[in-house]
Amino acid sequence: MLRMSNTQLQAALQCRQKWKFLFDGQYMASTFPMARGTILHRGRQMNLTQKVQTKTDLPFEAILDYTLSQIKELEFVPDRDGLNMERVVAVGVEKDYHVFQRKSKPLLVETKIVVEPAGYGFSLSGILDLLNTDEQVINDEVKQLQYVDDLKTVSRRKSPFFTHRSRQLSIYWMLANYAGYQPAGARHLFLEFSKYNATANVVETKRTEEDLQTTLNEIQTVVEGIERGDITGAPDDSWFCPCQFAPICPYVTKHAKQFAIGGSDE
Ligand code: SF4
Repeated sequence: MLRMSNTQLQAALQCRQKWKFLFDGQYMASTFPMARGTILHRGRQMNLTQKVQTKTDLPFEAILDYTLSQIKELEFVPDRDGLNMERVVAVGVEKDYHVFQRKSKPLLVETKIVVEPAGYGFSLSGILDLLNTDEQVINDEVKQLQYVDDLKTVSRRKSPFFTHRSRQLSIYWMLANYAGYQPAGARHLFLEFSKYNATANVVETKRTEEDLQTTLNEIQTVVEGIERGDITGAPDDSWFCPCQFAPICPYVTKHAKQFAIGGSDE
């Protein structure tokens, strides 16, 4: 039975050849924006994981030091404009810590969940970034509601449509349901970078039972295509092609390879 994660689903929907490279374990160094996201996720994970039990934040300096220490643990392609990763990460941690981490009351952090949806021919796996709780006043009563939160580090502001149509949030929502939780909403916690500045922005959305069913049906269609052996390259006008696998991809021309974008924000 094929196991699909959000990363594999996104790759398979974009380009089956890209999915195959990932499935075969092909590795390409992260781009600068991808590495920025991974490093910041590691830092917040350190704070929020312990906060599930302690309910308190570690000191900012400890999170900053740990996050900066992760830069040398990762292989990544330098930024085209020569941005310094340390400076970028430092402003990102500061914004994330003071705007998002300190407000968080986490229930689950970076939790791996694997499920086999009944009636479908695949298993679904994912790492739930953050299942959070937040107080809301409903009919003059303060209630603790659960939210699927996902930090996104981006290089330009995304339209709200990005959040409302996010398959990743649909998958996280499903995984939270399977783990026994009932989210009231899902939120993208955006850190928007502009050179050495970062601004924080939240976009909230919801998912219905029907939405989740649609996502499962979509995954089933993708899985059936893969099982039929449909491993083709991306259409030639795709914005995401050539991707980070361009140097070894049989579907792009030698001249196109030089424009490889090598992955997106994280
Ligand atoms: S370079 Fe293009 S065709 Fe090749 S794997 Fe990447 S997206 Fe697919």
